[in-house]
Amino acid sequence: MRPRKDKKINLFVCGITPYDFNHIGHARTYIAFDVIVKYLRQKGYDVFYLQNITDVDDKIIQRAKERNIIPGKLTCQFEKEYLNNMKALKIDSVTKYARATDHIREIISQVKRLLKKGFAYQIEDGIYYDISKFKNYGRLSKRTVLQAEDAVSRIDESKEKRNKGDFCLWKFSKTGEPKWSSPWGDGRPGWHIEDTVITEKYFGPQYDIHGGARDLIFPHHEAEIAQMEAISGKKPLVKYWLHSGFLTVKGQKMAKSLGNFITIRDFLKKNPARLLRLLIIKNHYRSPIDYVEKLLSQTKKELQRIDEFISKLKNLKNKKRVKEVNLFSTSAYASVFEEAMEDDFNTPKAIAVIFELINQGNSLIDKNKITKSDAKNILEFLKRVDRMFNFIFWRKPKEKIPSELLSLTKQRQKYREQGQWQKADELRKRIKAMGYWIEDTKKGPKIKKAES
Ligand SMILES: [Zn+2]
Repeated sequence: MRPRKDKKINLFVCGITPYDFNHIGHARTYIAFDVIVKYLRQKGYDVFYLQNITDVDDKIIQRAKERNIIPGKLTCQFEKEYLNNMKALKIDSVTKYARATDHIREIISQVKRLLKKGFAYQIEDGIYYDISKFKNYGRLSKRTVLQAEDAVSRIDESKEKRNKGDFCLWKFSKTGEPKWSSPWGDGRPGWHIEDTVITEKYFGPQYDIHGGARDLIFPHHEAEIAQMEAISGKKPLVKYWLHSGFLTVKGQKMAKSLGNFITIRDFLKKNPARLLRLLIIKNHYRSPIDYVEKLLSQTKKELQRIDEFISKLKNLKNKKRVKEVNLFSTSAYASVFEEAMEDDFNTPKAIAVIFELINQGNSLIDKNKITKSDAKNILEFLKRVDRMFNFIFWRKPKEKIPSELLSLTKQRQKYREQGQWQKADELRKRIKAMGYWIEDTKKGPKIKKAES
């Protein structure tokens, strides 16, 4: 791949709508892009990874109404939940998360420019994009203007529209809905406009890579192209489009009504986060994944193989030196690994290389034919791989200990030094109630999180 400018890559991936817990389908998309970004960075590219957060939307308004809270409270809760999920899954490559509601001024500016250029029009309930005005509409998804009819969302339903596929840029608000003032009246942005606003702000009118789940190709990504290319007059908006495949559960799309909805939170209650990473990374980012029990148990076994191999390497007994023949060449594996990753991020092939290495390594260890320096090379290679994959050497992400807890612990230690045992014990109980316990060691007290 070739970035637009030297070694600089601007990459945007469609983010979440925070109105509910995220499911493993979201994890699929964001783990896939986490690996891609980490790989590009390892190759020396300076990647700006931008993700939006759609914090104003129909589903949010609806859900907030059901729960009888303001939409802002709902989005705040689920944005936090999402970021915690990402942290637990070691998805830490995003440079910036940008909320739609922090960019209302810029959204109004893009709508204004679309109106001025004749690509947008105002009707009773909002401002719409006229898809018949944009010559290349449908190029990405290979659809025509007429075929665009059935894919509009509820917000875009107005009967006054010029073409059925026209989508909303600015929706006038009904009572009780979140609203911002605009030159055309109080309202809120349509769904597609925030993406081009956010990318224009951070990257300009054109950039390198746009990613997202494949169900976003139409109408969402098509609309983004129509918006930004109409405004800037420059094309293409994006040099490379990367779309991740679906994740189904036992052959079916995940849906609350089917009872097969697996949230990241629930998955992580029962399984280690690295399991989800391996399960996803061993599939190509574009391929569909069908989540079935067998896949889970297979992947668990694979992790076990990795762990056993690493432990063997680390505990290699330095018995008699074997003949100084280089039986094991890590570099051969490294180059096949690299070839796989260069081939449209072919992670299944790259992971197959790791397991071949483990096979050969195991058989040589059994024959006592691996030297300590071989072992060191292999471990170094695996560590390099794991800077992108993050499932080989797993350490739980560190949890921040609340400052209140630290001061309670200090106070308790003081009481202990003064022999005020009862007071110290009371504090121990308070700390316990916060979900932690204290281990008194020779070096002082250690705070540990109680296992839930
Ligand atoms: Zn998007």
